[in-house]
This record gives sequence, structure tokens and C-alpha cells, in this order.
Amino acid sequence: MIPNKILVVDDEADMEELIDLLFRRDIRKKRVMFIFAKNGKEALEVLEKDPDIDILLCDINMPVMDGLSLLRELNQMPRLLKTIMVTAYGNMENIRTSMNEGAFDFVTKPIDFDDLKTTIDKATHELNRQKEGEAARKQLPLTQKALEETDQRAKFLEELDQLKSRFFTNLSHEFRTPLTVILGMSAQIAKDPSRWLQRGNQLIQRNSNHLLDLVNQILDLRKLESGQMELRLHQADILIELRYISESFQSYAQTKNISLSFQTDEQEIWMDYDREKIYRITNNLLSNAIKFTPQGGQVILSISNQGTHLLLTIRDTGMGIPEDQLTLIFDRFYQVDGSSTREGEGTGIGLALTQELLKLMKGDIKVESTPGEGSKFSIALPITQNEPRILHGQQKDKPVEIFHVGTEAEYTGRSAYAAQTALPSLLIIEDNPGIVEYLYSCLEDQYELFSAPDGEAGIEAALEQVPDLIITDVMMPGKNGYEVVETLKLDERTSHIPVVILTAKADQASRLEGFQRGADAYLPKPFDQKELEIRLAKLLEIRQRLQQRYQDGLVPEASSEDPQIQMEDAFIIQARALIIKHLDDSNYRGDALMKAMGLSRTNLHRKLKALTGLSSSRFIRKVRVEEACKMMLEDPNLRVSEIAYATGFSDPKYFNRVFSEYKGLSPSEWRKQQSPKSSG
Ligand code: ADP
Repeated sequence: MIPNKILVVDDEADMEELIDLLFRRDIRKKRVMFIFAKNGKEALEVLEKDPDIDILLCDINMPVMDGLSLLRELNQMPRLLKTIMVTAYGNMENIRTSMNEGAFDFVTKPIDFDDLKTTIDKATHELNRQKEGEAARKQLPLTQKALEETDQRAKFLEELDQLKSRFFTNLSHEFRTPLTVILGMSAQIAKDPSRWLQRGNQLIQRNSNHLLDLVNQILDLRKLESGQMELRLHQADILIELRYISESFQSYAQTKNISLSFQTDEQEIWMDYDREKIYRITNNLLSNAIKFTPQGGQVILSISNQGTHLLLTIRDTGMGIPEDQLTLIFDRFYQVDGSSTREGEGTGIGLALTQELLKLMKGDIKVESTPGEGSKFSIALPITQNEPRILHGQQKDKPVEIFHVGTEAEYTGRSAYAAQTALPSLLIIEDNPGIVEYLYSCLEDQYELFSAPDGEAGIEAALEQVPDLIITDVMMPGKNGYEVVETLKLDERTSHIPVVILTAKADQASRLEGFQRGADAYLPKPFDQKELEIRLAKLLEIRQRLQQRYQDGLVPEASSEDPQIQMEDAFIIQARALIIKHLDDSNYRGDALMKAMGLSRTNLHRKLKALTGLSSSRFIRKVRVEEACKMMLEDPNLRVSEIAYATGFSDPKYFNRVFSEYKGLSPSEWRKQQSPKSSG
């Protein structure tokens, strides 16, 4: 038997010893042979001399030539090679880059022997298959059919590649959100322990559990696929378990205003089952059902005993799944909506894991769905009663705690702390309660805060409250963050409000997209509290500059190139024109203006206040006074009382008072002061 030759490229001195230790038996039996190189350059030299090497185990950080550069060199070589990258645990950026550069797979440090061995076996298997394919191709001239098959295979590989790369992107997003909360809250605790220790600690625990859960799911999927997962069965009443799981989802369902019900005609169902795996399966299906169902929908979990098997169905009234995708959703990494702004987060492994777990349990899963109406997932599990019976509360294994989003304290409505103060108001549009809470902890001393859990609600709140600032997430149910920005920026009532996009998507393309849709600033997660504070303060400052622009109730003659400012100019011009049209009508007040402009009282008031710093009645008076000044200059013979009536003041005394308030002089004094200029 010819041993597999594997080239290990690593600068760590004890690598040779470790490999020797791990693979001692295989090496002695000459099943495998390891060759070592200290860096990329050395590896290239070894490869040139030895044409039999076809698997590489490659570290990333090395002197002289690092792993990623070596990978690029290998890509240029006309020979079959499979490279397995060895990377630090959790270094997603490197993993992603190496997979994009054509690495076959990766293992993380500290190296798990079983994991490494499975990965090498997989690489060998794939190599052999490819070699056989090549040999066959050399022997036969390619027929049309063979050509088509090759094409299909290439297409398949390309698709798989895209799925993989999307998976890594998704995964890094999934990591970024909890990391934001963990990093942020620990900084808060360090700054003010007495205020944040307890709540911060809870949030950190929860979010760390979420990360752990993600890692576990990925590892479980690997274990299942390599046949290394075992069942730990005991016999108990599964109904109690399922009822409990369904209960634990109530608060998540409530945050989305979804009714979640549990239906069964059975009193009890005693059967053998693996507790943790049942949790994992129902947890995945219930989270999906709630995640993909809009506000106000319904999710029903029903259970029945069919004699030989248990039937569990989860129905939702959500968005549904197109028919041609029904089989695909069980594939690893597959998501119906692969776009960067799709609803909610996720990695696309939940259903793959669910299906594998069910195979292990000799069960089955089916899905039916009508797009726009909802989906129904049905699970059948064989009922056996071979294990010893256990009463609930007597399980030896510790209770499984599975994280699901939305169980944290809901932070909706205004922050009590700032409710009565005159702080600038800030609306947070974000679906992850952990992030919302962290933002509150950062900003509640400086802003009057309120929040909305999705894009739709966010737009509604923005139109109603007209806040001074908005922070929005991108990936959210309903409308995504880009749509929120676009809607608000095109609406005259809210176009002036600065919007900060806060998101796990940190790449240049999404940043550009944000700006194109009109966002004023963009902050990637995890963000730094100071940076966020400075950004927000700067945006308020820019808005104050806008107020200077309209300080006379006029639009400066120099027009702006900025379309955003043009839009605000148009608003002021329209309001002014309406007031001037009714200049001599003393009854033309805020109400009439609001009707003419098609705005509500609050909207008009807040918009004018934001742009000019003046309330609507003060703005109207200001326009009247400015018009009065113009008239006085244009016609020196007009009496002050005449001007007062002509500009909508029914009482000349009142006109005098208002005029002095704005100009610091009475109308006649002002006229005198101006006259040398106007006559000269
Ligand atoms: P994830 O939820 O992490 O994206 P899953 O493997 O759990 O991954 O699901 C894969 C895809 O199947 C989802 O992205 C979604 O497009 C679709 N899907 C799953 N469950 C539902 C459901 N109840 N309603 C609509 N679509 C669903």
C-alpha cells in the first residue's frame, strides 16, 4: 500500500512531535507519511521535488511566506492538491479568505485529533474521486453526455463554493452581534460597576451562551456527518418536555405579537428519546416559525400519538417557502433569501442539523408550504419503550439551556430616565433586544431614547415622533435598514433627520449602499461607545448648521449642490410662499399652514423646529416681520400701522412688540436706522 503523503507547513517547533503522537499508529502501519516545512517558501521547494504529495496541512501565520500567500501560489500549480488550513479558533476573517482562495477545508487550533483525521480522510476521498475521474477522462474521448456531466459538476461545485462563502459571511455576522453586546457591556461594567454589574453580567452570559450554541451547532453537524454522534436515550413522558419547550418560546413570540399555541389530545406519551436532540430539533423549528412570521401571526405546535410513531407538526402563518426551494432548505448553508439584507439573521445550518438529527433517530421530516400563507413542518419519530423509565426532574443530564433571541428584557417605549428632560430625542430601530439594551446603557444620559423592533414600526415611530436622530440596524424583519433610510429620507416630514446605520455588515459594498440610500453615518458592529457618541454629536452639530441656514425664515440665495439640502430648501420655500400668500390674513396660523402643507400639527412643528429652531407660530411671525421690513424699505411713505395690517397683525401695538422682539428695535426706530442705507 502506498502511504498518503501529507506536507505539514507550520513554523511551530512542536508540530512534528504532535503529529507524530497523534498519528503514531497510522505512521507505523505506513498508511500515512508526513513531511514538514517551516514556511510557505520551504513548502514550495518540497513540493517541487516530491510530485507525490497531494495533501497539505497549512498554518496561516508564518514567517517568510504565510499560509494565504502559499495558497495563492498553489492555485497556479497544474496539479491536484488539497489544502487544509490550520487556523486560530474563531478567526473567521482568515477562514473566509482561505476558503475563497480555494482551500479544501480548515481545522481550528487547538487541533482536535478526530476532527483532523476526519478532514484528512475527506480530502483523501475527494482526491481519489478526482483522480479516478481524470484517469477515466484520459482513456475515453469525451462524449457529449460526459461533457454535459462535467459542466453540471463544475456548476455544482461553483454553487457549493458560493454557499460556503456565504455561510462564512453569515457566520461572522452572527458572531458580531453578540460580541458587540459582550464587549460593550464589559466596558460599561468597568466604567461604572455599581450601575452595570448585575444587568451587564446577565447580558454577557446570555450572549456568550448564544455564541457557544452557534459553535456547538456547527460542531454537531460535523459530528453527525462523520457518524460520530451518539444517541443518549431514556424513557420519559415527552409531552411534558415539549410543553416546556413551547412555553420557553412564549416571550419571544410575544415580542413579535405572535400567538404561539400548543395543541394535543394526548394526556401523556411515554417513549425513548434523547432530550438534548429533541430540544435542538424543536428549538430550530420553532425559532424559524417565529422568525419567518410577521407581527400578529400565528404559530401552532401540535402533537399526536400515531401508535407506531409520534407526529409533531409546527405550522406558521408566515411568509412561506416557494415550491422549488422546499427540498433545498435542508441543505447545509442554504437560505431562501440569500441577500445581505434578508430578514433576521441565521446561518442556514439549522434545518440541515435538524434533518441529520432525525436520521440518527430513525425519524423523518417533511415540509409543505404556500408562499404568502405559511409553512408546515411535520416530524415523525418512532415510539419505542426499551429504556428504563425516568420521572421528570430525575434526569441525570443537566437541563439543556438553548439560547434563542428575544428572551431578554424588552426595551420598548421611552427610557424612564430621560422622559421629562429636554434632551435631544433619538429613535433606535433594532430587532435584537441585547443591542437595544446596550445602546440604552450608552446613550440614556445624553438622549431621550425610544425604540422600535423592526423597520415598519421604526418608520411609523419616526413619522409620529419626528426624533432628532435615528439609529437603525440593517438586517431586520419586515423592512430592512436601507429601506427605512430611503423611506424616511424621501418623506418631507422626516427627510431632515440624520440616520446612522449600525450593522454587522462591515464590507465596503454595504457601506456604499447605505450612503447611496441616504444614510448620514455608518458604524460597523462591534462598535466603540466613544465613536458612536462622537458620530451622533457631530450629526446634531451639522443639523444646527442647517438651522443657521434658515435663521431668517428665508432660504439663502446661494443654492446648495446637496440634494438633501435642496429638499429642505424646498420645504422652507413652500412654507414661506404659503405664509406670504396669506400675509394680510391675521387668522392664517399654524393650523392653516399645516393643512395647506398636508402635514399633521406635530409633524409641521417638529420639522420647522429642527430646521429653523423655531416653533411653527414663531416661524410664521418671523416671516411676517421679515416681510414688514421689506415693505418699510420699499415704500417710505407707508405708515407703520398700515404695514402691520398688511403683514397680518390685527393690532399695531402687538406688531410693535413682536417686531422689537425679533429686531431689538421698534419699527420706526428700525426704519430710521435703515433709511440712510436705503436712500444712499
Ligand atoms: P437559518 O434559519 O439559519 O437561515 P435554517 O437551516 O434553519 O437556517 O433554514 C434555512 C432556510 O429555510 C431559511 O433561511 C429560510 O429561508 C427557510 N425557512 C426555514 N423555516 C422557515 C419557515 N418556517 N418559514 C419560511 N421559511 C423558512
